[in-house]
Amino acid sequence: MFDLAIIGAGPAGMSAALTAADHGLTVVVVDEQQRAGGQIFRQPPRAFPGSVLHPTAGYGWATDLIRRFETDPRLTTEFGWSAIGVLHDDATPDVLRVAINHPEHGTRVIGARRLLIATGAYDLPVAFPGWTLPGVMTAGAVQTLVKAQKIAPVGDVVLAGAHPLLLLVADLLVRDGVPVREVAFAQSIPTPAELRHALGAVPGHLRMLAETGAIVARLVRKGVRVSPRTIVTAAHGTDHVSRIELARVDRKWKATGAPREVAASHLVLGYGFSASTELARQIGCDLVFDSPRGGWVVAHDERLQTSVPGVFVAGEPTGVAGADQSRAEGALAGLGIAAGLGRAVPPAAFAEAERGIRTATRFSTVVQRMFEPVREALGDLATPETTVCRCEMVTRGTLDDFLASSPFVSDINAVKLSCRTGMGPCQGRYCESSVGTILASAREQPIGLGGRFSAHLPVKPVPVGDLRALDAPPEQPAPDAPCP
Ligand SMILES: Cc1cc2nc3c(=O)[nH]c(=O)nc-3n(C[C@H](O)[C@H](O)[C@H](O)COP(=O)(O)OP(=O)(O)OC[C@H]3O[C@@H](n4cnc5c(N)ncnc54)[C@H](O)[C@@H]3O)c2cc1C
Repeated sequence: MFDLAIIGAGPAGMSAALTAADHGLTVVVVDEQQRAGGQIFRQPPRAFPGSVLHPTAGYGWATDLIRRFETDPRLTTEFGWSAIGVLHDDATPDVLRVAINHPEHGTRVIGARRLLIATGAYDLPVAFPGWTLPGVMTAGAVQTLVKAQKIAPVGDVVLAGAHPLLLLVADLLVRDGVPVREVAFAQSIPTPAELRHALGAVPGHLRMLAETGAIVARLVRKGVRVSPRTIVTAAHGTDHVSRIELARVDRKWKATGAPREVAASHLVLGYGFSASTELARQIGCDLVFDSPRGGWVVAHDERLQTSVPGVFVAGEPTGVAGADQSRAEGALAGLGIAAGLGRAVPPAAFAEAERGIRTATRFSTVVQRMFEPVREALGDLATPETTVCRCEMVTRGTLDDFLASSPFVSDINAVKLSCRTGMGPCQGRYCESSVGTILASAREQPIGLGGRFSAHLPVKPVPVGDLRALDAPPEQPAPDAPCP
């Protein structure tokens, strides 16, 4: 049995793993990607020519963290494996049995005394007419294809949304020679008061802000139109996107006039991120709704312990706050877990990790406030014909009819049970946000009151036959793994 199982090898998971190993814990790290780095430092497979890690602007520590993680012989790593759930076993209440699955090797169960959920975030999906057409993609997906697979869209591209990631992706595409027609932001240009407020967060982040400014200048120089207060209202095409509708919006992102059309073969959407909480939900951790921080996020104490004994959380599942904060939280979680397992941790180490979190939070709070999606306006983009749950093909009209005929339903899981939204292979990752917003608007209640979809094992789709292995006893660390 390992002392600690970590799910996710992004900045949070890597930093926690190294910290915990430094304090003598046996650690296993599971990540469904082929290599460490997480979303922001996504690396191509080793077999790709020129697969060297390029440092990301503003994150000078990243290359060293990844190198130390990838070469540390104390760590057991399971790349290419997805954590699909944690099994409860009354006979061994002190052991967390983590089920992991690999597309070729099936399912195994790993035993650990503590579990750290560092599963990051994913793009916030938004349902509107045409969003399921081939050619409509999320900004994170496009970035991943370019970074990890060296594949870029072919043809004219429009990017639309409300998150600065759109600028990074537009820049990536332009540098790759992709014709980018327009970048549409739903927000307005920040007011002087907003900028004054944001200045407080600048120290320590000058390089990142300078790089963002340089990107905007580069895009404009290359003839890319950057349009504030503009939202995408529809994508049209028969078997692929060919035209995109963009409309001017007011400060609440409500369309103020007739939309205009832009011809393009790809639409890239970036409205921000949702915290990846399915594993935490499956285990039974408490969550809270916090819209600027990524919707539903995992509740925790000051040492990142969740409401479930032995289960900790770090990085974006605590709130989407960027890589600096993820790394700092990973370090704090590693220290807290080591101390909880009886290792000596000097108070100065805790103080340093907490300082890192405070510094990162100053910046992330401002970013979260400036780029918070206006969820109500996004929910209103779906028309009665729009498919909201693309796995089960449930339209907005079906949801509206159900809510009108069931006036006492105010919980998202009741909608799920009746309409099948969130019951397909993605388990609600695509539709939960839209369904939650539609429910809130129908009941005139805050989104958080409707709750979130419950999650069950397997939290990621696997062949049914792979579940047979769940009966097996948990694995032990390899015999040559170091003992504390
Ligand atoms: C697609 C995408 C692109 C992004 N690009 C940028 C960017 O360019 N610049 C920027 O500043 N920020 C970017 N972000 C935000 C970014 O997520 C954070 O800044 C940072 O990467 C968060 O670190 P983390 O360790 O919390 O999570 P992540 O870096 O997201 O790491 C989480 C890891 O957990 C793994 N994982 C998740 N669930 C499971 C599971 N069930 N089983 C096994 N493994 C699992 C994932 O594969 C991932 O490697 C991006 C986010 C996303 C979603």
